[in-house]
Amino acid sequence: MTDPVRRVVILGGGTAGWMTAAALAKALERTGTTITLVESEEIGTVGVGEATIPTIHWFNSLVGLDEARFMADTGATWKLGIEFRGWQGEGSAYFHPFGTYGAPGDATMAPQRLTRAWLAGDTAPIEDFSLTTRIARRRAFAKPVGDLRSPLSTLGYAFHFDAMRYARHLRTLAERRGVVRHEGKVAQVERDGDTGHVQALVTDRGDRIAGDLFVDCSGLRGLLIEQAMQAGYDDWSHWLPCDAAWAVPSAAETEPTPYTQAIAQEAGWRWRIPLQHRVGNGYVFSTRFQDIEAARGLLIERMAAPPLAEPRLIRFTPGRRRRAWVGNVVAIGLSSGFLEPLESTSIHLIQSGIGKLLSLFPRRDADPLLAEQYNRLTAREVEEVRDFVILHYHLTQGRAEPLWRHCQAMPIPDTLRYKIDQFRRSARIMLTPDELFRDASWFAVMHGQGVRAADYTPLLDTMSDADNLRQLEAVRRMIGDAAARVPPLPSGRA
Ligand code: FAD
Repeated sequence: MTDPVRRVVILGGGTAGWMTAAALAKALERTGTTITLVESEEIGTVGVGEATIPTIHWFNSLVGLDEARFMADTGATWKLGIEFRGWQGEGSAYFHPFGTYGAPGDATMAPQRLTRAWLAGDTAPIEDFSLTTRIARRRAFAKPVGDLRSPLSTLGYAFHFDAMRYARHLRTLAERRGVVRHEGKVAQVERDGDTGHVQALVTDRGDRIAGDLFVDCSGLRGLLIEQAMQAGYDDWSHWLPCDAAWAVPSAAETEPTPYTQAIAQEAGWRWRIPLQHRVGNGYVFSTRFQDIEAARGLLIERMAAPPLAEPRLIRFTPGRRRRAWVGNVVAIGLSSGFLEPLESTSIHLIQSGIGKLLSLFPRRDADPLLAEQYNRLTAREVEEVRDFVILHYHLTQGRAEPLWRHCQAMPIPDTLRYKIDQFRRSARIMLTPDELFRDASWFAVMHGQGVRAADYTPLLDTMSDADNLRQLEAVRRMIGDAAARVPPLPSGRA
């Protein structure tokens, strides 16, 4: 048994850095381990990342955030899902809700029942069977309840928040728990000649910050994991065509929607994310299919309100770091890779990285077996999320622009092909036990993008088509009644 880790050093003070600092400070409380976070105001943070998914509740409760205080501090609004506009051609729209479809407790069977009804000629929109979608459309909001007899148990929610304020909020918490922030630009990385482990970071002012374990949260540049440890990068731009985004705020709305909008465009898609104090707007696009300045013009022209600042351009290579943990360096956040913002999964991947680091927390020798397990789990998780994102691009129909024709024709990963084929045959959604996006998400997106199944599970053969339709009608009424009872959000706040 070797010595425990006594000094953790986190490089980077963006969302990833401060989330990691807050979580480690809580977990390592009273162990005597020190945590130092090094960041450079001159370099700054990526400054985007405003939409989350429901797993955020796990992280917020892990670090002990009070929901009301956190929402006030970060200008947060409720998020019930994502509305996809134009992905099946101009004028089309579908909703990916965070909750489940159908009756309470029936999440897995609901796609089967709805498929059977559709095959029997019933064309009722699937939105009618999602309470989350129905209240989102009414600009109403309610939280899920634990009682599985209640339709409210089918709800799910997350937040939109100001990423800079979220990092600041977590910084206060982390510093209160003893994390020491060190301002400075890292200019040199010292490594042990024998093990190759990182020993210290040296700033351009000559400060030396030594550590036993280093968490690389340095953003897209991956200063430690790539530049020092040469982890390698898998470039997935053959599957995920977008490699740039313009981002710009506009004025807050009086009636913000409790959901994100993702609006398909000629060479990518635009986001609209309403916060309490502003609206976040962005255009994620492919530089292979649109000139950077033309993309900027498109965003400004199509925004519902004038920009409040100069748009910012962010370039990225969609993909993932081949190994997120090498030696005594663990990459969390953009340093470990970035797919793209569709489906807002990046903050989830940060917290999932933190969770894995906590459960595999090493001793000072940084046992390579722990790194192996971390990298194995990370690879699987990122690939599953990647497939879900590719699904949106590949299944888009009704758009004839070159980017979309390219996406319709491109070869896709076998893992995704398998999922689509299984659904087409029998409405089955093939998931691994701990896969992030579950039945409702895959069903919403596949159905929304026009995929229809040819059959359903034989388990439903115990009832007739008429009984299935009758039961669904009762579920639809129950969801409609429950939706009508949820009060709308007050104006001026989502
Ligand atoms: P950064 O914010 O870039 O922070 C890097 C830190 O490292 C900074 O503090 C910097 O100062 C420091 N640093 C770097 N080099 C040095 C050095 N040499 N010395 C000292 N310090 C250094 N995620 C979501 O979950 N939802 C979304 O809606 C979403 N939208 C996005 C939209 C776009 C266009 C992009 C690009 C990303 C989006 N993301 C989203 C991802 C999200 O922004 C990031 O996951 C999140 O902000 C974490 O970033 P980070 O902390 O890893 O990196």
